[in-house]
Amino acid sequence: MSIVTTRFAPSPTGLLHLGHAASACFAAEQANGGRFLLRIEDIDQGRCRDEFVEAIFDDLAWLGLSWEAGVRRQSLHFDEYAQALDKLTALGLLYPCFCTRADIKEMAGAPHGPDGPIYPGLCRHLSEEEREARRASGRPFALRLKMDEAIRIAGPLRWEDLSAGVQEARPDVFGDVVLARKDTPASYHLAVTCDDAKQGVTLVTRGVDLFPASHLHRLLQALLGLPVPRWHHHPLLAGPDGKRLAKRDGAPSIRSLREKGLSPEEVRASALFPG
Ligand code: GLU
Repeated sequence: MSIVTTRFAPSPTGLLHLGHAASACFAAEQANGGRFLLRIEDIDQGRCRDEFVEAIFDDLAWLGLSWEAGVRRQSLHFDEYAQALDKLTALGLLYPCFCTRADIKEMAGAPHGPDGPIYPGLCRHLSEEEREARRASGRPFALRLKMDEAIRIAGPLRWEDLSAGVQEARPDVFGDVVLARKDTPASYHLAVTCDDAKQGVTLVTRGVDLFPASHLHRLLQALLGLPVPRWHHHPLLAGPDGKRLAKRDGAPSIRSLREKGLSPEEVRASALFPG
């Protein structure tokens, strides 16, 4: 058996809460004596803060977790994401999209995918002159994937989740997904796929809320010629109201539980998934 490499990959946009503690402990456990990596997902420079990066290190160490030296910070690797985008451009699979959030909101009738409305392809059909004119006028743009073409090139794909079993990849549910945002030259999907490959992750562990994303990541791996890991999506912790714990609903931070005097063992015990 080859050794497992797993990771926990939080975004430093706030303090970690119990759901993160559960996810981090799950990932460390799944490493099962193999490699456990920590990655800081900070491509969204407008929302990420250094103080939260420090708090992540501190809270995870307090919980008793240890990870391999050399924590990867996504914001230091935009050049690698740009190379991946260049590859996809060379395959003729990307196009610039100048639509604003408001434009996309107006397409209210559009069916929804895991990341929101499925893009109806307006900018995909712009003429080359119109594209150039918009670029020249300095209008910001995102880069979208021509999903149907991408699927055609990659052919049918499968991936395996350790709980849910083998899956037929269905990246089509995302439609023409954004791979480079207007405000940052990558997207979550692109960065995570590149990073997991670069870091030699063999088992991607994360919450089941990101299960649909794995369909798309599998497609990106095929297009970019990256190794294919296995996945293990864990359940999500619910609060007393039965709803999923979330920062915006005031889920208690690990920090606040520490300050209340709880021990790491007590916090870990309340961060267990049901069942
Ligand atoms: N950064 C993501 C989050 O905080 C997790 C991404 C992943 O594990 O793939 O939700």
